[in-house]
Amino acid sequence: ATPIGLLVGTGRGAQLGILIRGPQVLEDTRKLDTIVLDKTGTVTTGVMAHVGTSPVPGVDADEILALAAAVEHHSEHPIAQAIARAGAERGPLEKATDFRSEPGGGVSGIVAGKQLVVGRPSWLEAQGTVLDSTAHALLNEAEAAGSTAILVSVDQQFQAIISVADQIKDSSAAAIKALQQRGLRVVLLTGDNTSVATKVAAKVGIDPQDVFAGVFPADKAKAISSLQEQGKVVAMVGDGVNDAPALAQADLGIAMGSGTDVAIEAADITLMGNDLHQVSAAIDLSAKTLATIK
Ligand code: ADP
Ligand code: MG
Repeated sequence: ATPIGLLVGTGRGAQLGILIRGPQVLEDTRKLDTIVLDKTGTVTTGVMAHVGTSPVPGVDADEILALAAAVEHHSEHPIAQAIARAGAERGPLEKATDFRSEPGGGVSGIVAGKQLVVGRPSWLEAQGTVLDSTAHALLNEAEAAGSTAILVSVDQQFQAIISVADQIKDSSAAAIKALQQRGLRVVLLTGDNTSVATKVAAKVGIDPQDVFAGVFPADKAKAISSLQEQGKVVAMVGDGVNDAPALAQADLGIAMGSGTDVAIEAADITLMGNDLHQVSAAIDLSAKTLATIK
């Protein structure tokens, strides 16, 4: 990985807040026809907030939130931070031990002698929780409301759904329109559920057919390579640790400067700030710089 200090930026690029790793990048940028955007933190702010807690009958919403928060406190994921914050607002968090984190899945740990598992449905199932019809009903309800639904189990018994949501960046819709007007196909790629992903896509003008949802971190890179197999020249724009393999796989990896170091290290271009308009600016800059060189 190249430390950020070694990134090559043209004078103009640096002024615009666009760091380009090397001259080859300019050449690749010119050939792009597809732009794949990560959702959380790229199209949306990535600042998740707790929307609500829906427990099974007999379970107290704030108690289950507090247990989940005690575990999520150890994770840096935006979802984890939203749950930890909501729990801490309601009282001091208990200690969690045996913390484990599964990228794109969720977390687990032991709190007050209880085994907690928090995350997406497949992560709970992999940890031995059976999701019955009550669980599925609560899940569908939360997702239909457009929230990201996080499941919680205690000692392998499903206990609650915690709903979290973030907001679309003010600049995203206009920035995506500008990319589409250049003739670029814009694709949304996310580990989040289909319901949330298609709602976000509709709000920013991305075709429902160009939404790849529920994609695990390891499969984000595969999604890029399958587009490449179809002959597409693909840029991937992302910010998270989970985006790094896809950024590396893409013909052009573009990291949001507000993102994680791992994403920045995997990328060819880093955009300072967090505005998707910078993607168009980077493409313009490459075209102009090439024209000057040639
Ligand atoms: P995205 O592609 O939107 O950035 P991720 O790949 O990071 O999303 O996560 C995919 C899904 O995995 C999340 O929507 C969530 O259901 C689950 N998940 C990942 N990390 C956590 C966590 N720390 N706590 C709860 N759920 C998590
Ligand atoms: Mg992200």
